[in-house]
Amino acid sequence: MPFSKVMYSPRFKRAAVYGNGQCNFRCRGCSYNLNLPTKASGPALLTVERVKEVLAGLDVERVHFLGGEPTLNPDLAEVARFAHEELGACTKIGHSNGSVLPPEHIDAISVSIKAFDEAIHREYTGVSNAPVLANFEAMYRRGMQVDASTVFIPGLVGLEEIERIARFIASLDPEIPYHITGYVPVPGAPWRAPTREEVEEAAEVARRYLAYVTFSALTLDDILHIRERDIRYRSVRVA
Ligand code: SF4
Repeated sequence: MPFSKVMYSPRFKRAAVYGNGQCNFRCRGCSYNLNLPTKASGPALLTVERVKEVLAGLDVERVHFLGGEPTLNPDLAEVARFAHEELGACTKIGHSNGSVLPPEHIDAISVSIKAFDEAIHREYTGVSNAPVLANFEAMYRRGMQVDASTVFIPGLVGLEEIERIARFIASLDPEIPYHITGYVPVPGAPWRAPTREEVEEAAEVARRYLAYVTFSALTLDDILHIRERDIRYRSVRVA
């Protein structure tokens, strides 16, 4: 499976390598359902060799892998090895659903834990969360730098779920960073967006268990203009 694009942030010496958007979950609130121009990556036409060539021409300290579920990409292993061993870069899966263990040469991973409750997880994603929870623990024990996030969805993934997830993460290490994102409604899904106060309250619940909890309550407009408003997202396409 080739790659679709490479973005580069000179300020952070960070490249972001995008796959083809393939995912093995069917989240009812997936932000890909918003059809955002920021998510569109175009056809996956970049070969492994081309991605390596592009990365070799950049001044990179970090290489992130994004787009759908990056661990499903069989070519991830080789690009991660190249970035890690030959470029000496720190490698990170920028966003994963945690269903598949990453290959060697991945230093860090952000795992989105959709729900702790099996029935809620199945209702939202269509699949079990047993591999997600087992893999999260395995990655932590492997020594990877892990962090977690959850989308707070009033009426589905509420305060009780946030508390269960926070307790699970804290059972491994209360210093694992945890980010709570306010749900942004997607067409066809029944849930409303939470208020900023509700997301803040969820963060307070998580802080009973975890030392590093952050939250965001973005609107659709914020997401559409995130590159202008947040310097961390400012990058240029290099392939
Ligand atoms: S795991 Fe992420 S990319 Fe996959 S369907 Fe769910 S929200 Fe979308």
